[in-house]
Amino acid sequence: MKSSTTVLTAILTSVLAIVGSAQRGGRGGAPGQQGTPTPPGPPRVEELKKEVAADIETMKVATQQMVDQVFSFGELGFQEFETSKYLTGILEKNGFRIERGFAGIPTAWVATWGNGKPVIALGSDIDDIPQASQKPGVGYHDPIIEGAPGHGEGHNSGVPLNVTAALAVKKIMEREKLPGTLKLWPGVAEELVGAKMYYIRAGMFRDVDVNLFAHVGSNLGVSWGAGFGTGLQSVEYTFKGESAHAAAQPWRGRSALDAVELMDVGWNFRREHLRLQQRSHSVIVNGGDQPNVVPPNASVWYYFRETDYPHIKELREIGDTMAKAAAMMTNTEVTSRILGAAWPQHMNKTVAETMYTNIQTIGLPKWDDADVTLAKGIQRELKQPQVGLAAQIGQLRGGLDPEQNMGGPSDDIGDVSWNVPTATLGYPANIPNLPGHNWANAIAMATPIAHKGVTAGAKVQAMTVIDLLMRPELVQQAWDYFRNVQTKDQKYIPFISDKDQPALWLNEQIMQKYGPEMKKLYYDPTKYKTYLEQLGIKYPTVRQ
Ligand SMILES: [Zn+2]
Repeated sequence: MKSSTTVLTAILTSVLAIVGSAQRGGRGGAPGQQGTPTPPGPPRVEELKKEVAADIETMKVATQQMVDQVFSFGELGFQEFETSKYLTGILEKNGFRIERGFAGIPTAWVATWGNGKPVIALGSDIDDIPQASQKPGVGYHDPIIEGAPGHGEGHNSGVPLNVTAALAVKKIMEREKLPGTLKLWPGVAEELVGAKMYYIRAGMFRDVDVNLFAHVGSNLGVSWGAGFGTGLQSVEYTFKGESAHAAAQPWRGRSALDAVELMDVGWNFRREHLRLQQRSHSVIVNGGDQPNVVPPNASVWYYFRETDYPHIKELREIGDTMAKAAAMMTNTEVTSRILGAAWPQHMNKTVAETMYTNIQTIGLPKWDDADVTLAKGIQRELKQPQVGLAAQIGQLRGGLDPEQNMGGPSDDIGDVSWNVPTATLGYPANIPNLPGHNWANAIAMATPIAHKGVTAGAKVQAMTVIDLLMRPELVQQAWDYFRNVQTKDQKYIPFISDKDQPALWLNEQIMQKYGPEMKKLYYDPTKYKTYLEQLGIKYPTVRQ
């Protein structure tokens, strides 16, 4: 549920403002310290990093095709069948061993190449957003297919970035006979925070030394430590009552929908007395069939977000109490099941500092007038400041005081970050000042903005892998931070039990409804250079 960088930046800016004026101190991280970019390595390491970045520049067409292809699949969480088939196909062709159906999730996989230590994992999300279908390159709402899902977050770009980086690094590893293993993996159903905790349970990261994640944003950046955003539990409550003729004999019915509504009302009163850091929201997924039948079944789906493990657990317990109380009021029964969860993120200081040095080397892509015109067009359309595209790389952010965290979005990369040293590379494939989880966030995602941003990100990712392969002291330092700072007082406790299973059925019906229409518009790179060309879109198209 990580939202757009716009939102993140806004949150972070306000958090930074608070931290600046507040007393220092607290747990985790190192409040007030911003981190120091890792100094350059020995000359041979720096030469190979230069070479890998130059090679990625020559791979631009292949990268663009991957970005466009996954954009055109537009698949929702747990339904990423075409996406996974396509991406594993490319990796398999390039000599990676593929394990499909990882953790019992049909669209999950692990692709491995190389031998021995260190094991460097590269992950990024692949699912998209309901009702976010949007023509790329068009600066106003114009769906490709009305009502269909679309990449209104930009998750079509991250695995193409990692594949590009991995293929370039692999070439160098082969030639230089560098020991080490590359392990690529997809964030299935990130928007449902649905898969990563199951990956951990199934052992995906057991042999991993460092995990590099990549997430789309509107700038190149990385952060470390804790201190912003939330973790969450995603829980569905199902009430069971008794149906009856709603007019003839209403006294014989027990309404499950009444229970759902009372739970929501109760929660909204209770909300006033919850910590300011919490975020909670719900949708009614089953509210009955028709008014003249007292609804015998009804379900409501909650996200309970808080800033640390104990508070997330507590918030869920309050939810359970509300559900039980609503069941008592309506003489119905209630059951619940967990559909997803995420730990609050804590990113590794050494890994972030190493990545940041490479960010400084690569810098932002060169945007042209067409790119900036599209960005300003949608910013104008949404009545946001017309800042265009990122003009300066972000700061190395870190060391925020978790006590000052006022909440925000979540991402199940949090769970991974508590199991293995991890950092998330933010890369500039999208436009600033967009709402997040929205059609507007899809506009840039199959245009030169995304293509250039992914190429820049792939260079940083590949250079960071080279650093980690050739400078074992960095891996050591990363684990020192992980063991002696991050997990000193707080260890990972999964939100799922051994019995919980991934919510594989989610989004199945939506994809059944829109899939056949979407399939006709899959990108065909044998006929068209770009997806924009295939759709016949003039780049950029904006309102005057
Ligand atoms: Zn995301």
